[in-house]
Amino acid sequence: MSRVLIVGAGLTGSVCACLLRRKMPSKVNIIVWDKARGAGGRMSTSRSPSDSNCTADLGAQYITATPHYARTHQSFYDELLAHGILKPLVVPVEGMLMKEEGLCNFVTPRGISSIVKYYLRESVEAEVYFNHHVTHIHQKGAEWEVRRKGGEVECFDIVVLTMPPPQVLQLQGDMPTLIEGDSRQKLESVSYSSRYALGLFYPPGIQIDVPWAAKYIADNPCIRFISIDNKKRNVESSTSGSSLVVHTSVPFGMEYLEAVKEDVEPLILAELKKVLPSLPQAVSVKVQKWRYSQVVSAVNNAPGQLTLLPQPLLVCGGDAFTHSNFDGCISSAIQIFEVIKSSL
Ligand SMILES: Cc1cc2nc3c(=O)[nH]c(=O)nc-3n(C[C@H](O)[C@H](O)[C@H](O)COP(=O)(O)OP(=O)(O)OC[C@H]3O[C@@H](n4cnc5c(N)ncnc54)[C@H](O)[C@@H]3O)c2cc1C
Repeated sequence: MSRVLIVGAGLTGSVCACLLRRKMPSKVNIIVWDKARGAGGRMSTSRSPSDSNCTADLGAQYITATPHYARTHQSFYDELLAHGILKPLVVPVEGMLMKEEGLCNFVTPRGISSIVKYYLRESVEAEVYFNHHVTHIHQKGAEWEVRRKGGEVECFDIVVLTMPPPQVLQLQGDMPTLIEGDSRQKLESVSYSSRYALGLFYPPGIQIDVPWAAKYIADNPCIRFISIDNKKRNVESSTSGSSLVVHTSVPFGMEYLEAVKEDVEPLILAELKKVLPSLPQAVSVKVQKWRYSQVVSAVNNAPGQLTLLPQPLLVCGGDAFTHSNFDGCISSAIQIFEVIKSSL
């Protein structure tokens, strides 16, 4: 059995774990480490501190399938629809651009992180650990020695890195030498947009009285998108509260990239008050800075993955190697799986 470490419990890492478990169960022990406290990565769903049934999607909002990907990833869509993880988007999203004919939009009734959690559950027997922040990777003969913050060093036969390339470039140990030259150039060529997200939580009974479930704001320098999360997911509940999600524009995110997020929160709330003057007072607010939000320029000539060393295998993947959405992550996970399969 080969010990495979997948760094990152986002969509790419979780699908990769699931493919390995389903397609080569007798060949691999799968271990997933993530530095965060829970699963999802940029497909994250936050809970209200006062009501765990009230949640808000602070990263990805909905899934859009182009006709091409509805066909090529049909088995993934069919499975998630059959398990109620995805449902068609049926409520109005004002200002949504349909850039292509035949697009299908889906929402996640249990929050966007339910997709990632589903794939982790399906990776039966995979060992998933949170608060595991990888800092150093050393090559020791035919194995990788991986160090994490505050933890013991562990050895693996294969290591898969699914975090954004700027975070791969921060890894220490043998990493700076391993990525010298072409790989470094490729990893450094990736660029991301940055933005802030706010989740505002309301107690049961409070109505947010707007005629849409979500809305793109075209003419505001600060706010780009607002969603009433339970309305977007088309799940009305009388017992749990509701939540509202705000995404800032990218120029605003870039302007305040190095600011302390708690200092930026009141600026966004003040702007929100101007956009929605009758918005009730939230019981709590969660602020998230997405330094690496969506990929603006992906790695060239590395479809789905970049193999840093073939033996022992060290491979990077994620949306930076395809494009920044559900299908980009699925494509990357499939490519990573193929590389692992050939190396075994
Ligand atoms: C605001 C926003 C809106 C978006 N909207 C949409 C949308 O509507 N539809 C859509 O399809 N997509 C959307 N996206 C893009 C989508 O969320 C991403 O493409 C996808 O989540 C990327 O998944 P990933 O697994 O490749 O990377 P990530 O989700 O970034 O996962 C990488 C994981 O690695 C972990 N990690 C990082 N460094 C380390 C380390 N050193 N040690 C251990 N763990 C580490 C991180 O904690 C993270 O969990 C949006 C993204 C954002 C931020």
